[in-house]
Amino acid sequence: MEEIIWKIIYVVFWISSGLIRMPHGKRYKKTIKKKSVATSREIVNISLVSIGMMLIPMVYVFSPWLDSFNMGLPDWARWIGAVASVFALILFWQVHKTLGRNWSPVTEIREDHKLVTAGPYRYVRHPMYTYIWIWLICQWLMLSNWVVGIVGLLTWSILFFTRLPDEEKMMIDEFGQKYIDYMKRTKKVVPWVY
Ligand code: SAH
Repeated sequence: MEEIIWKIIYVVFWISSGLIRMPHGKRYKKTIKKKSVATSREIVNISLVSIGMMLIPMVYVFSPWLDSFNMGLPDWARWIGAVASVFALILFWQVHKTLGRNWSPVTEIREDHKLVTAGPYRYVRHPMYTYIWIWLICQWLMLSNWVVGIVGLLTWSILFFTRLPDEEKMMIDEFGQKYIDYMKRTKKVVPWVY
């Protein structure tokens, strides 16, 4: 299949995830934050992730600059990425719906924050991060480019592995034994595995 078609498919998924997030982003701006543990390190890491999840893929889509790093993956492998993206998007939608107003782009507790343990949160404590891992692999497969794949996963790994301990500590500080019990019966991002 022509490269331009893959680029279009990728952009459609990208816009769809933006549309799913949009209402939550708007509501987030209006809600009151009680305690933020977002550090300047987190802000730097979020900026890095934006490079890996937005800037680099868009450079690939809209310019020929990264073409020399193309991997030439077969169409079937790229289709796996596209089909998995559909399921990833459904998961993303479901996670946002379940987390509701408790969602925030940084590590913080909102006023009247509720501990969510339903829906996808029954199986893992961080389903939104599960979605991001899946999406980054799909992005790599669909665009079939070394730079897109490696920069995406690398920048996200930095945020993921530094944020997770802070986020869980914050949740324990806020919800105490309730969160500790919740941790005992769930995995972080991959049900029954990790
Ligand atoms: N790590 C979660 C949520 C990502 S959004 C996931 O991957 O699904 C980040 C914010 O969600 C955190 O700042 C925290 O305030 C909130 N949060 C994380 N886990 C939560 C839970 N189980 N219930 C309610 N809020 C949660």
